[in-house]
Amino acid sequence: MAAWARAVRGLLLDISGVLYDSGGEGGGVPIAGSAEAVQRIKASGLKLRFCTNETQATREKFVKKLQGLGFDISVAEVTAPAPAACRLLKERGLRPHLLVHDDLVPEFADIDKTNPNCVVIGDAAENFSYANLNEAFRVLIGLEKPVLISLGKGRYYKETDGLKLDVGAYMKALEYACDVQAEVVGKPAKAFFESALAEMGVRPEQAIMIGDDIVSDVGGAQQCGMRAVQVRTGKYSLSRVGAGSILHLRPD
Ligand SMILES: [Mg+2]
Repeated sequence: MAAWARAVRGLLLDISGVLYDSGGEGGGVPIAGSAEAVQRIKASGLKLRFCTNETQATREKFVKKLQGLGFDISVAEVTAPAPAACRLLKERGLRPHLLVHDDLVPEFADIDKTNPNCVVIGDAAENFSYANLNEAFRVLIGLEKPVLISLGKGRYYKETDGLKLDVGAYMKALEYACDVQAEVVGKPAKAFFESALAEMGVRPEQAIMIGDDIVSDVGGAQQCGMRAVQVRTGKYSLSRVGAGSILHLRPD
């Protein structure tokens, strides 16, 4: 075994496209062998953390769905963008206008949302209407110093009925219209990976990220000094971006 492999202490697992494909009745379909893989990783003694950009539900609801699909997972094992965004909002005294999925709103329950001085955008799915995007645009362009916080910046993801546009596409629209640069909370932001590693108590060179997104999962982890593996499930199987690049084990 290579020296670097012997040094591995922990794994970060993406969820959508790695453990399951979301969508449809029941909220999704497990990917064959993934529940068993989680069990084996846990039994191996390696530290494990689930590192997701999921923003269509609170962590509680999301984890309950995954448990129902047969996964051994708890809320305390999940690093997700919304709680990280809430910490950032509180630290900086920011009051968000939310353009997010209805099921994510409870994550922001104790955040002051009166008289907004920033916009937070997540994967709002059906809430990405013209009216809602335009409302967010008006809030943002009306601010003296526009602050746009994006929960991840994925281009698209795979659901059971096909590929879906992700938050990154809408984030770019607001960036363009308001001539601002969004602050990304979630993968591929370095700080997000660093917080997941800190929660595991593992250094970057001791960890491997496993995901289906060549930019958010693989690229982000490598920027952080970790090794990363791209799986062939999820968006990989339907995408051209990243096709042909199956393994990216080196951070350079
Ligand atoms: Mg994924």
